[in-house]
Amino acid sequence: MVTEKEDMKKLEFIEEMTTNVDAVQERVLVEILGRNGGSEYLEKCGLAAATDRTTFRAKVPMVTYEDLKPYVMRVANGDRSSILSGPSHPISEFLLSSGTSGGEPKMIPTVKDELDRRQLLYSLLMPVMNKFVPGLQKGTGLYFLFVRSETKTPSGLPARPALTSYYKSDCFKKHASDTCTSPLAAILCADVFQSMYAQMVCGLCQRHQVVRIGTVFASGLLRAIQFLQQHWEQLAANIEHGELSPCVSDPSVRAAVAGILQPDPKLAQLIRTECSNGDWAGIIVRIWPNTMYLDTIVTGSKAQYVTILSYDGGDLPIASTKYVSSECPMGLNLHPMCDPSEVSYTILPNLAYFEFLPTDGAASAEELVELADVEAGREYELVVTTYGGLSRYRVGDVLRVTGFHNAAPQFRFMRRSGALLSIDADKTDEADLQRAVERAAALLRPHGAAVLDYTSRVCTKTLPGHYVVYWELMATNQQEGAGGTRSVDSDVLARCCLEMEESLSYVYWVLRVVDGTIRPLEIRVVRPGTFQELVNLAVSHGASMGQYKVPRCVTVSAVIQLLDSRVVSSHFSPALPHRAPWTAL
Ligand code: AMP
Repeated sequence: MVTEKEDMKKLEFIEEMTTNVDAVQERVLVEILGRNGGSEYLEKCGLAAATDRTTFRAKVPMVTYEDLKPYVMRVANGDRSSILSGPSHPISEFLLSSGTSGGEPKMIPTVKDELDRRQLLYSLLMPVMNKFVPGLQKGTGLYFLFVRSETKTPSGLPARPALTSYYKSDCFKKHASDTCTSPLAAILCADVFQSMYAQMVCGLCQRHQVVRIGTVFASGLLRAIQFLQQHWEQLAANIEHGELSPCVSDPSVRAAVAGILQPDPKLAQLIRTECSNGDWAGIIVRIWPNTMYLDTIVTGSKAQYVTILSYDGGDLPIASTKYVSSECPMGLNLHPMCDPSEVSYTILPNLAYFEFLPTDGAASAEELVELADVEAGREYELVVTTYGGLSRYRVGDVLRVTGFHNAAPQFRFMRRSGALLSIDADKTDEADLQRAVERAAALLRPHGAAVLDYTSRVCTKTLPGHYVVYWELMATNQQEGAGGTRSVDSDVLARCCLEMEESLSYVYWVLRVVDGTIRPLEIRVVRPGTFQELVNLAVSHGASMGQYKVPRCVTVSAVIQLLDSRVVSSHFSPALPHRAPWTAL
């Protein structure tokens, strides 16, 4: 049990870090360059033994993953020389980012002690929360946490998502049982169904102790609620008799659940009463009546889930507590009980070296601004230099400075630069979508049709969400006449949906096929002239006709309404997409 004194120490640490932002950043950079200065990459940049900020700023270029990929691949393939990080801190594993490179996950290099920094950030979250929500220490958390199967690079280094790496760490294993209802064996079970089932049973059995409920991203929490909707009868039967269904076959998970699951006919009856009437409003507080808040990220693309989560949660507050990535841990929300639309994150200067590229046309490293120097009201793209060997690396996140805590800027997450579509951890950008449409449109050719124009959106009206792609078709066949369309068979269009899914990223495939977090992709064919109407609509709202570009993703409700009112047919992917299995290389 954490004491008030320990909480105070953590809060003081936050005060100290946020007061001495620039001095801490200076120290961090010296430390990183002290370790990694001898790496091939930084030597090539002309840094050799220098560890000062001025030389670093003058010599090290700003890069993307594509620039570093050849170096990453050499490490992954077994070159043990100091390529990105220095000899004292070799790369210990690769974290698979949900950001993709040519459809495959980015492999972010990391070093052993990076886990300590991640843990340090996580250890600050509850002290902040306790400040705002008294009484949390009297209960526990129901957290739905999952690992994925991992792979190894040819050099034998693990390649796995950051959370899988964290949940498998000793540090997490030591603390997990203090803070959450899910047994470790259930969290570490790579079979998503068995893991979810076991975590749900244990959360139900301990319903009175639960004071907070969470997942990393909001989409995950909605998935858990949906799981309850689909399986409550079986769950109630298990609880009534104190016996776990054979659908959970993993022996270690069964053993762990056996320690928690006891016959409880009263609880079984409550679950049946609450779940059988089809009314899901406030289901979370009806089942877990002592819940004080939902702990899940609803910023960025996850903001789309606030309404439905508030419905399921009976208007419980939703706390977006942290801002992290595979590249490095970044920051936390110092006012976690604020409205989701008001969330800002304070980046902690001890976690990495942070720089900011103004988004108003700046494109070169000379224009990078230090953490201590960003200006309120301005937007920037985040650029990080990490202990793991990334130097001036563009994460791809666009942030707006909303204010300061002491000397530390606070940032609102605005968007992922380039990402068009996202339901869960998937991030589909314009190039991914273009590639998918081109591949699918090729199937129309033998049928005398082509895609004249297209756009897309995420639809979360029915959960889980799915991608909707609007197509306006044109005839390519002379006999059809210019501008005419011919009706393409429904089967062909359904096949186009599948073709698109098969061309999307590895992360999309995992969520769609392994997790079932994404429903089949849909093509909505709109009637001829619809995209011209979009132009007219934009012009009537002040856009210049000459400069108008079809948005490849639509979010404005008037535009969505227009598109939906012009739909002539709708088609869904008829099967799960196939994909060559991804190996670390
Ligand atoms: P990954 O590399 O797969 O770990 O994903 C990290 C990315 O997820 C970040 O760069 C952000 O784009 C996004 N992300 C992480 N935390 C948040 C947050 N609190 N709000 C919005 N987006 C976030």
